[in-house]
Amino acid sequence: MKYDVIIVGAGPGGSTAALVLSRAGKRTLVLERSIFPRSKVCGYSLNPRCWPIFQKYGLMQRFNQLPHFDIGGFTLEQEGTPIVRHSFRAQRTRTVERGVLDQWLAREAQEAGAIYRFGVTVKGIVQRCVETSSGNYEAPIIIGADGRNSIVARLSHLSHPSEPCGRVAWQAFVDVPSLGDHVHMNVFPEGYYGVNRIDATRTNITIVMSAATKATPQEIMHRYLPEATCQPWKSVHPISRRPWEVTNGQTWLVGDAARILEPLTGEGIYSAVASAEMAAQHILSIPEVGVTAAAASYRRQHRRLYGSRTLVNSMVRWALEDSLRSTRIMNMLRHFPSAVSHMVEWVQSPAKPNTQFANGIGLEKPLAYPLFQP
Ligand SMILES: Cc1cc2nc3c(=O)[nH]c(=O)nc-3n(C[C@H](O)[C@H](O)[C@H](O)COP(=O)(O)OP(=O)(O)OC[C@H]3O[C@@H](n4cnc5c(N)ncnc54)[C@H](O)[C@@H]3O)c2cc1C
Repeated sequence: MKYDVIIVGAGPGGSTAALVLSRAGKRTLVLERSIFPRSKVCGYSLNPRCWPIFQKYGLMQRFNQLPHFDIGGFTLEQEGTPIVRHSFRAQRTRTVERGVLDQWLAREAQEAGAIYRFGVTVKGIVQRCVETSSGNYEAPIIIGADGRNSIVARLSHLSHPSEPCGRVAWQAFVDVPSLGDHVHMNVFPEGYYGVNRIDATRTNITIVMSAATKATPQEIMHRYLPEATCQPWKSVHPISRRPWEVTNGQTWLVGDAARILEPLTGEGIYSAVASAEMAAQHILSIPEVGVTAAAASYRRQHRRLYGSRTLVNSMVRWALEDSLRSTRIMNMLRHFPSAVSHMVEWVQSPAKPNTQFANGIGLEKPLAYPLFQP
């Protein structure tokens, strides 16, 4: 079968792109190396900025039916001692386990017509041909939605040479006495962790810490949550790197494949969904505006999507990367709790609609094809 687009990776980015392209009638193939449902090193918090995108594609009703937990606020702790407690004013962050979330989005895309091949690992790309662990597939457009260690970015020469990253993230489901409905973010000398409920019965912990430290994630957990017991730990890295080029016209990167955000602010899933929708809409515009204009527009819009958010995210990263610096900043924040509250509300605030462009999606001229209705 001939495909119009091949998408590598079925996380939130890949499945959002598959949904948008399939609903617009494009023959879309998604190649995913895991077998779903699969778990993921993640805090599982969805920023409310996702809701307008889900609403736009008629996904909100089914999204609301997924097992979830509505987070009521954010508690910032320094070495286990709360220094700021902030209850969300309006919009609530929602946690959904990634095995559940990613499978649901994949099903929505499959329902729209996308073909999924699970258990297939992409190993090479030669022009239009994607080489995998189970044969070769061809398409004129390839989307790299394969996460922070994107092979698509590397094979398409969109990545920079690999840079060392001195931090690693760990995740586990924990059994811990009730922590209420807040996400607890604890900053300690080796790094920080977030712990929060993810549904009616389960609690999740993610730890980001220096790769050089001798302490294990288990030891860190027991230091601050002595009564907690947990299931096996999973890890991932890098935690940060420079942004990569997002497209060369043939290959388009979305989500973590293009840019990684500091996990603490919980914006990675939103950014994957939003950048994937943006890339898909630009790809759909190619017959009308040409590949060069579509790619240039995606580059600009992608920069704007991350724009000011990256500034805050980078400040958070800068504050946390160094132990002495993070201690000083936390000591200061004790006296300015409203600064933390403002930042938390800002991170959760709705995205500004892009009024500069006719369709609000980000193309710099009205689309010639009708935008499908969900
Ligand atoms: C510790 C930590 C906590 C986080 N907490 C949050 C949070 O609370 N909220 C939030 O919004 N974000 C959080 N994030 C970020 C979030 O997890 C990512 O931003 C998000 O998963 C990016 O989605 P994606 O679709 O781009 O990539 P991914 O979700 O990483 O999906 C990539 C997919 O590609 C597949 N793949 C990779 N290589 C290949 C290959 N060669 N062939 C085939 N398939 C392949 C993988 O199996 C995977 O399914 C956190 C990140 C970390 C590290």
